[in-house]
Amino acid sequence: MTTRNPRPSAIHANSPLWEKVDERAQKEVASRKPPKALRDRATRIADLLAEEFPEATCALNFSNPFELIVATILSAQCTDERVNKVTPDLFKKYRTPAEYAAAPPGELEKLIHSTGFYNNKAKAIRAMARSVVDNFDGEIPSEMENLLTLRGAARKTANVVRMHAFGLPGISVDTHLSRITQRLGLTDSTTPEKIEFDIGALLPPERWTHFANSIILHGRKTCKARKPLCGQCALAPHCPSVEEQ
Ligand code: SF4
Repeated sequence: MTTRNPRPSAIHANSPLWEKVDERAQKEVASRKPPKALRDRATRIADLLAEEFPEATCALNFSNPFELIVATILSAQCTDERVNKVTPDLFKKYRTPAEYAAAPPGELEKLIHSTGFYNNKAKAIRAMARSVVDNFDGEIPSEMENLLTLRGAARKTANVVRMHAFGLPGISVDTHLSRITQRLGLTDSTTPEKIEFDIGALLPPERWTHFANSIILHGRKTCKARKPLCGQCALAPHCPSVEEQ
């Protein structure tokens, strides 16, 4: 017996970008039926974030999809600013996935040393580059299912690449997005995948990328991990976790 995908809600079915959402996200998002009040609150929050961070975009510098994956691997446990200091020399030294895959032992490690965990990161970059060469003729694929076959690429990285290198709708879930959407009561899930789909069900796909980008900025500026600055937060009227300050 075949299982039919659930019907998407009107905000998704009417979206011009719905067809570009990856198949799994389509299925998961369509299976969630959040109440209208929650969707309205998410829309208001997205509006406020758009006012505060109209230009929110990917903070990593890159000029092609492969460079973006490399930068994303380097950004683990490291600031985007630090990665952006390292990548100009790195991207000049190695131009193609084949060159990364063949980078001599120690050379790649030295170039990325200041981003931390450089041995593991160099290993991950070489393995990812090798799978791009072997399986995709040296070109980064745009399909979610193909991106997920690359060594070291989980949904977060795959979404980053789809969103920023290919202009496709996605929600990359990092610690900022997890923490803040939980504080805002937009999700009670605890795993990145479930959070991605919970938030996807609240907003149309054309709003996903900007929402994800701006909430990261909101996390760095205001809704900090240890001590949220609720007294300075534009989202406070819509936040069930607001703290008196
Ligand atoms: S009100 Fe406080 S907890 Fe809520 S989003 Fe703003 S800073 Fe975070």
